[in-house]
Amino acid sequence: MSLLIGVYGASGCGRGIMPLLRAQYPQATLIFIDDGHPPGRVNGHDVVAWGDFLEGRSENRAVSIAIAAARTRQDIAEKCEAADVPLVEARAASVVQMDEVVIGQGACLSPYVTLTSNIRIGRCFHANLYSYVEHDCVIGDFVTLAPGAKINGAVTIGDHAYVGSAAVIRQGLSIGAGATVGMGAVVTRDVPPGVTVVGNPARPLTKG
Ligand code: UDP
Repeated sequence: MSLLIGVYGASGCGRGIMPLLRAQYPQATLIFIDDGHPPGRVNGHDVVAWGDFLEGRSENRAVSIAIAAARTRQDIAEKCEAADVPLVEARAASVVQMDEVVIGQGACLSPYVTLTSNIRIGRCFHANLYSYVEHDCVIGDFVTLAPGAKINGAVTIGDHAYVGSAAVIRQGLSIGAGATVGMGAVVTRDVPPGVTVVGNPARPLTKG
């Protein structure tokens, strides 16, 4: 039976992931799943709601969660698990991965991502265009790297953290769970859980 792959999210992220999966699985049927989009077509693929995906044409299904928001990714991952639908990895052909890299299920690895050696990464990791992860990093679940994010060696990143476009994290630091690193930030100190840092050198964002 042919494979039916649902790319969950038909917005910006999903439209960047769909072509990767099309190249990886030329024999599969590929559709978007989106709960907020009217049924129709996006970039040549059907868009359906989650319920229709489950009812649909195939027993042999898998999902790629192509939504940047980490909590939403987790909710959908749990929904997939409850429905016994496996997550599939989307990986551009240009991704460079060196030795002893362990990645949890459901990652989305965009073009020109580099993962060097001895790295551990959790579930549903999103590494956007040109981001890199250097040696000996440990990355949690549902972590997102925006385009060009630079994670230097031996950095630890907690679950749900978000690293903005072109931000740089100095070697050996820890980025806490749920932390946000702003676009272009140069991070030279540990970032506590849940804190947003911006600037060069990066400092906590204060209101007002
Ligand atoms: N979405 C969904 N189910 C959810 C949450 C979000 O189908 O439970 C869809 C939402 O309708 C939207 C997409 O996911 O089309 C998220 O798009 P957005 O532009 O917010 O961000 P992106 O992750 O693509 O950058």
